[in-house]
Amino acid sequence: MDDVPMHPETIALRAGYDPASGLGAAKPPLYMTSNFVFPDAQTAKDIHEAYFHDTGPQAGKNAHTYARMGHPNLDMLEARLAALDGAESAVVFNSGMAASAAIALSLVRPGDSVVHSRPIYGGTSGLYNDFLTQFGARVFAFSDGCDEADMRAAVGKAAAAGPLKLIVVESPANPTAVLVDLAMVRRIAGEVSPRPMVVCDNTLLGPLMQQPLAHGADLCMTSLSKYCGGHGDLLGGGVSGNVNLVRNLRLLRTKLGSQLDPHSCWLFLRSLETLPLRMERAAYNAQLIAEFLDAHPKVSQVTYPGLLAEGSPEHAVYQRQCKSGGSTFSFRVAGGEAGAFRFLDGLRLLRFALSLGGSDTLVSHPATSSQYAVPEGDRLAMGVDSATLRISVGIEHSDDLIADMDRALSAV
Ligand SMILES: *Cc1c(COP(=O)(O)O)cnc(C)c1O
Repeated sequence: MDDVPMHPETIALRAGYDPASGLGAAKPPLYMTSNFVFPDAQTAKDIHEAYFHDTGPQAGKNAHTYARMGHPNLDMLEARLAALDGAESAVVFNSGMAASAAIALSLVRPGDSVVHSRPIYGGTSGLYNDFLTQFGARVFAFSDGCDEADMRAAVGKAAAAGPLKLIVVESPANPTAVLVDLAMVRRIAGEVSPRPMVVCDNTLLGPLMQQPLAHGADLCMTSLSKYCGGHGDLLGGGVSGNVNLVRNLRLLRTKLGSQLDPHSCWLFLRSLETLPLRMERAAYNAQLIAEFLDAHPKVSQVTYPGLLAEGSPEHAVYQRQCKSGGSTFSFRVAGGEAGAFRFLDGLRLLRFALSLGGSDTLVSHPATSSQYAVPEGDRLAMGVDSATLRISVGIEHSDDLIADMDRALSAV
């Protein structure tokens, strides 16, 4: 199977599991065990040598010892994620933040500097700006991911402050879906010596709709809790990249104890089978909803990537990097916070809740929830004011979604 080239839709349901490894079971078995029996003493020693040094007779055989270090369901999910991301290897954690924390702790040391794009997920911002700074890291940001001068200025400041180790970008970014030009990031990173690692948070599009590694990122991080899980009932995070970078993250995961459990891995494998169908339907609905909102007199600034003006730098990046606009974006309603609250309280079908990428459509008010702790000035610089709402469009019938929003907007 591995030597036949496959399309992403096929990879999503076939990669990572061979029935020959599971007594012929057609679907992946669930291996609920925390430890593994060794056939003999020498093999046990060889397995440990392979795990820690990747040498000896067990190297590359993926034998198991104790489930914190790895287990069969984790192997299957990691293999499938690596195949979908077009990566040599992948490592899976028990949340997206556990994945981001491992990246930060593996690559940043006291005195080093980090640059990130803005807006960025609140948890990622907290990890770098509030936590890593306590260990002596210096953190800088740029706000326009398609503007070379802006990005170059942030990278220059960071490189002058200390060795620049990491450039972390989120594209499209949560909650406004603004894009970062990954090729530009990689080019500017290449002007710094030694070259900083480029990490892209691909949560908003996921592996079916964007492949950051093909556009210059060294590591692709995805919160699997969102579209990949896809039903609003799982937490997990993945990182894809080259074998050496991923191996370091896996060894660090063993120290941190942030591996994903067998049952969640098994559920994620199952969810990934339908990821292409869910993403396509959600993006189809999102385009219709974005057009409806864009034409509504009480709505302004609809940030859906599928509505970007042709000829703009953002549109060029969109066409180069993304296979679709996904289904998470923001818009503003008339009447500031009061208008936004009236809209939210007027919804009957759409749910007012955090998170995104699930099968049902969710709306949230970033200024008083996910961005609550962000200082107002920074929040406004990210394009989030008190009238901004974020929507994560699901897979319901678009007519029902639009009817509900239309009714809620009449109350604004
Ligand atoms: C949710 C999210 C994360 C964090 O993932 P968890 O699985 O919730 O820890 C990181 N980045 C983005 C863009 C997200 O939406």
